[in-house]
Amino acid sequence: MTGVWGERLSAVLGARTAASLAQLDLHTVQDLLRHYPRRYGTPGEFTDISSLRLGDHVTVMAQVRTATVRHMHSRGGAMLEAVVTDGADTLQLTFFAKRAGVLRRHEDRLRAGRVGLFTGTVGEYRGRRQLTHPDYLIVGVDTTDEQEAVLEASRPIPLYPASASVPTWRIGQAVRTVLDPLTAADVPDPLPAHVREREGFPPLLEALRGVHVPGSVEEAERAQARLRYEEAFVVQAALARRRAAREGLTAVARPARAGGLRDALDARLPFPLTDGQVAAGEEIGADLARAVPMMRLLQGDVGAGKTVVALRAMLQVVDAGGQAALLAPTEVLAAQHLESLRALLGPLGQGGMLTGAADATRVTLLTGSQGAVARRQALAEAASGAAGIVVGTHALLGEQVQFADLGLVVVDEQHRFGVEQRDALRARGERPPHTLVMTATPIPRTVAMTVFGDLETTVLAERPVGRASIATHVVPAGNAAWVERVWTRVREEVAAGRRAYVVCPRIDANQVEEGAEGETGLTSVVDLAARLQARADFAGVGIGVMHGRLSPQDKDQVMARFADGRTPVLVSTTVIEVGVDVPQATVMVVMDADRFGMSPLHQLRGRVGRGTEASVCLLVTGAEEGSLAWERVTAVASTTDGFELAERDVELRREGDVLGVAQSGGRGSLRLLRAVRDADLIAMARGDADAVVAEDPALTDHPELAEAIEEALGEREGFLEKS
Ligand code: ADP
Ligand code: MG
Repeated sequence: MTGVWGERLSAVLGARTAASLAQLDLHTVQDLLRHYPRRYGTPGEFTDISSLRLGDHVTVMAQVRTATVRHMHSRGGAMLEAVVTDGADTLQLTFFAKRAGVLRRHEDRLRAGRVGLFTGTVGEYRGRRQLTHPDYLIVGVDTTDEQEAVLEASRPIPLYPASASVPTWRIGQAVRTVLDPLTAADVPDPLPAHVREREGFPPLLEALRGVHVPGSVEEAERAQARLRYEEAFVVQAALARRRAAREGLTAVARPARAGGLRDALDARLPFPLTDGQVAAGEEIGADLARAVPMMRLLQGDVGAGKTVVALRAMLQVVDAGGQAALLAPTEVLAAQHLESLRALLGPLGQGGMLTGAADATRVTLLTGSQGAVARRQALAEAASGAAGIVVGTHALLGEQVQFADLGLVVVDEQHRFGVEQRDALRARGERPPHTLVMTATPIPRTVAMTVFGDLETTVLAERPVGRASIATHVVPAGNAAWVERVWTRVREEVAAGRRAYVVCPRIDANQVEEGAEGETGLTSVVDLAARLQARADFAGVGIGVMHGRLSPQDKDQVMARFADGRTPVLVSTTVIEVGVDVPQATVMVVMDADRFGMSPLHQLRGRVGRGTEASVCLLVTGAEEGSLAWERVTAVASTTDGFELAERDVELRREGDVLGVAQSGGRGSLRLLRAVRDADLIAMARGDADAVVAEDPALTDHPELAEAIEEALGEREGFLEKS
């Protein structure tokens, strides 16, 4: 990047200031100017001192009441004690020095009646809240001239995301040093003029001044609105370009064939397709019929019936002479997919066998751990085209796996697959296969639009009728009688021939499974399994143990023993979260449920209620009633609608982690945008971006936008890819 915008801060601010800003990952003029204030302080509006919590790093606006230098006779040296107040409570500021003289400078600045911002870590001394050696800024005084001082005293005070080593006003000073001399020509504005005019948005430079040095809160808000829109617009323009680029690729069209395997499957399904499945099938079917590679995300809650939708798509491709690959995240799941596909297909999947239907195809499993003979045969079937459908894991992406004519790749639970793997598959052959990505993680519409904006989305909303209901209850861990009732319930279900999952956040005392936070005192699989086994009422009840440290073969065995009822209780970590299908399972107990996210809890709950028996999900938690953790768990209990939960999840999350890393404030990430709150804005930006890209795909007439996409989104695009 050229010009002032891309200049290193060290060249503009000096090495020392630049080094401290580098700690906040701010390196160029643009980085610094894009580091927006988190909020604004209003002069005269003091911070509520009573709300400060011990140990927090805080910035407090308060008024000085007293400041006195004292000699410390006992220890030698001197100290300055100042007391500041918000009008009601007081906070003590303490400075130590060898000689009193050093402290006079503070004493002079901290005059009674002055208002300042004080920053430091809240400590306590003899029962009083205090900041030791706080960094501070006296409002209206620490400026260079009188006039500025008066103005300064009336302006909203920008409060930046800061760190202990770089207080907010240091950032503010640096911003102004950089911002003051800039002219409009120095800051390339990625927003097209027509959009700016239509919305009445200020140009970029004006907006930057508006957020960093606002004359009023309203001015700051106007500037923020524009910058927020700009973020959405740049992201959507990047996604629009990706969609446009994909439109330029060619794939083999695989139109549906009447009287083929897909029709034959429809005729033999034991249930009618839901309206949602039919609609999804039509969308996907139309995509496959085009000579442009499909890139579609199929979202459907657990149990929504995505497998049938995928199978019908695969059969359409087989009917058109191609092959389909189905990728699962684990070998256990790949094997389960194989079973369910074969069951659905019946004779239609027994190609080459006596029992097979006339034009039957073959479904083949290909995994890393299968024996050499089985693997060689699977490879041969994929290469010859004898296998219309190949089911597997990452092993399917291995270089040595050849397909005769791969037309469709279905990826189940895509978040477990990296982009490299998907790309590897797509790069095979000269014409990329169609791709269908399935996820049971409900994604709010706008998050999908932002994060998966380059994918077309199909939502499978309703659950098939006739499915069992799932009642969810929160069980306070401190209530021994209730917890006891949990185990009685498990025992009763087992006695009635059903199965129970019991999920714990850790494997044993030392090891934590991915997805749960490490902390002592959490229930572990090994412990709990032993405790249950030792109970008199569980005598003779088979208890299986499952976690990520088991080998794939052991996992398979444990699952098999659970499915066939030899061990009707399965104590496990979250490894069973995705896709496992045991219809007889009617109880899901989650220990330390507050340790799991809302979405994982919902996924876990989806493991039961898959048959016709009413099921129950019991969330055991030690979270305090009313705490955020408690609210999250009760929210899961309050609805089984995954989409509603996803929205609720976003609401309950603290600012910043909606999109995970990408929104946590790193460079090149979304700074002002909030996916749910800004839904309308994102939709509008998408429309504008589509229009601009449609007219000027290479962005020749929009070099600032092209540059903004490259600069700001380099990192973010990487994130999009990985999601
Ligand atoms: P998921 O979307 O979680 O992958 P599955 O495809 O595994 O869901 O389907 C869950 C269960 O629902 C399976 O046993 C499947 O056979 C059954 N199912 C799918 N579609 C229907 C339908 N239209 N009517 C009744 N049952 C269905
Ligand atoms: Mg599934």
